[in-house]
Amino acid sequence: MNDQAHNDHSRRRLIIAIDGPAGAGKSTIASRLARKLGYVNLESGAMYRALALKAIDNDSSLDDEAALLKLAQESRIQLEPTLGGNRTQLDGQDVSSRIRERDVTEAASRVSVHPGVRAWMVDRQREMGAGGGVVMEGRDIGTKVFPGADLKIFLDADPVIREQRRMQQQKIKGEIASNVAADLRERDRRDRTRAASPLMAAADAVVIDSTKMGEDEVLARVEELARGKLESARF
Ligand code: C5P
Repeated sequence: MNDQAHNDHSRRRLIIAIDGPAGAGKSTIASRLARKLGYVNLESGAMYRALALKAIDNDSSLDDEAALLKLAQESRIQLEPTLGGNRTQLDGQDVSSRIRERDVTEAASRVSVHPGVRAWMVDRQREMGAGGGVVMEGRDIGTKVFPGADLKIFLDADPVIREQRRMQQQKIKGEIASNVAADLRERDRRDRTRAASPLMAAADAVVIDSTKMGEDEVLARVEELARGKLESARF
């Protein structure tokens, strides 16, 4: 590649959307892909989780859309991409671990059904990703946040496999494991059936079913698609 071609190639910074249900492997793939491309990985779910945590800490009802929206407007939710994944700050405090706990996970799923809350999140997410050079992951990135994204991936997997992966990730067994599986199914149901931006693949998304694929294989496929977009953007 000559210098000019190299410059053109590196100047074009894509917006890549990765959507899909919980446990499909989005976070790992998004962060590994971002690292390979020198992009920023933004985990939109962490923002819903941060708002859910604020609602819990303020004893705010998870069904009160107006109160949740007000809380959101008063909050400073920041995603800090690091080599080890996204760190999440809520009002200046690092809440990265706390927002992964079960009560926040459940609450995030509930706050995300409200259209007003979603609209607020979508505006923030657009601001963060507008410059390109991002791999943003979530449920509605390709359908709502960036309908014009350069590349849209919908990463799916059989529900049983997703539950098993999640349990392995969290190294849990027995009764707690069955709770995790039930929680995951309920979150899925809520995401797919809500009226505002339900979880679905965008019409122009590349659907990857990772049920029988290893992580490296999925990454290689997604990277190939991204490099293809970068190549075609040069002409
Ligand atoms: O991706 P993660 O599991 O961290 O997201 C937490 C919750 O936030 C999900 O269960 C989902 O209901 C919601 N969410 C969403 N739209 C997004 C990202 C997450 O509704 N773009």
